[in-house]
Amino acid sequence: MDIKEEVLSLKDELVSLRRDFHKHPELGFNEKRTAGIVENYLKDCGLEVKSGVAKTGVVGLLKGKEGGQTVLLRADMDALPIEELNNVPYKSVNKGIMHACGHDGHTAMLLVAAKVLSRHRDEIKGNVKFVFQPSEEKDPGGAIKMIEEGVMENPHVDKAFGLHLGNMIPAGIIGIKEGVMTAEADRFKIEIKGKGGHGAYPHTSVDPVVIASQIVMSLQTIVSREINPINPIVITVGKIHSGDVFNVIPESAELLGTVRTLDKNLAKTIPEKIERIAKNTAAAFRGEAKTEYAFGYPPLINSKEETQYVISVARNVVGEKRVVKTPVSMGGEDMAYFLEKAKGAFFWLGSMNKEKGLDKPHHSAYFDFDEDVMSIGVEMHVKIALGLLK
Ligand SMILES: [Zn+2]
Ligand SMILES: [Zn+2]
Repeated sequence: MDIKEEVLSLKDELVSLRRDFHKHPELGFNEKRTAGIVENYLKDCGLEVKSGVAKTGVVGLLKGKEGGQTVLLRADMDALPIEELNNVPYKSVNKGIMHACGHDGHTAMLLVAAKVLSRHRDEIKGNVKFVFQPSEEKDPGGAIKMIEEGVMENPHVDKAFGLHLGNMIPAGIIGIKEGVMTAEADRFKIEIKGKGGHGAYPHTSVDPVVIASQIVMSLQTIVSREINPINPIVITVGKIHSGDVFNVIPESAELLGTVRTLDKNLAKTIPEKIERIAKNTAAAFRGEAKTEYAFGYPPLINSKEETQYVISVARNVVGEKRVVKTPVSMGGEDMAYFLEKAKGAFFWLGSMNKEKGLDKPHHSAYFDFDEDVMSIGVEMHVKIALGLLK
């Protein structure tokens, strides 16, 4: 049997693993049931297994027949705080929690890849490290914690690879690009202090709602007036909270937002700009504003040679016409941390199928993907590792 046939022969197992994870989703750093299944499965494959890495992460090590390089393959295991609205036999049984990003598929694909690769141990010169990380969705995620706990050493990881299912790409298409592929994702909070009072007598108050509104609008001038327009940046205020009733001027307001950039150096300049605008806008209206800023996942950068390598493997797996160059995404992805420590690449595996009604966006309560593409993901993992370690 060649690899493709071998992977296809495990399709039922692959689908049932995915559906089981889908039915029992768990939030970041709480993937206990999922991690237990991963741990047992990897042990059954004869791998050395470490569990409890970064709380709920699992690492399986496949040692080849001879020594050599170590290739890391990564999957994320966490779900989202979303109530599933799909009517499928494998619908989430955990209230308010849903695999709405495809991480159930990522975990299933990497498990089956571990099984296939373990059967080819005799052909492997070096090691494959299977990393199942907790909490990708919420920064600070599981990747950085696993790295702090030593996942890139013993044995030292030479190259790292990962994939993400993509419902914005037709099923079976593989998308990748060299260089920056996903954005740095940072967070901020602005607390505005005014002076509460009667809604009918604004002159006796300092209105934090008006201040907050001015700040929201002014923050956009960072994008339009302060940054060279050739550099992409997004500033989104995702939460405004102030007041409880219609006729009272509240005491305070709170804004929460995210900043996305493709360049670490540009990202470093943003906190000063947000703070300056918030503070001085509030002062102009007799209020005060305090800003907190947190840097999140860095930009994900695919190294040149390894990107070319993944493209060559992808052409072998899905054919030349089904490998495309994807645009950069302003989304964040904590695989970026692994790729800061080792050369490697991250790619999209298209999973959208309009005819099957599987075209809802990630993080939607109706998200579901074309399970037929999972065999491609397994084959990619297996061939990426084998090609480098043969
Ligand atoms: Zn997601
Ligand atoms: Zn995701």
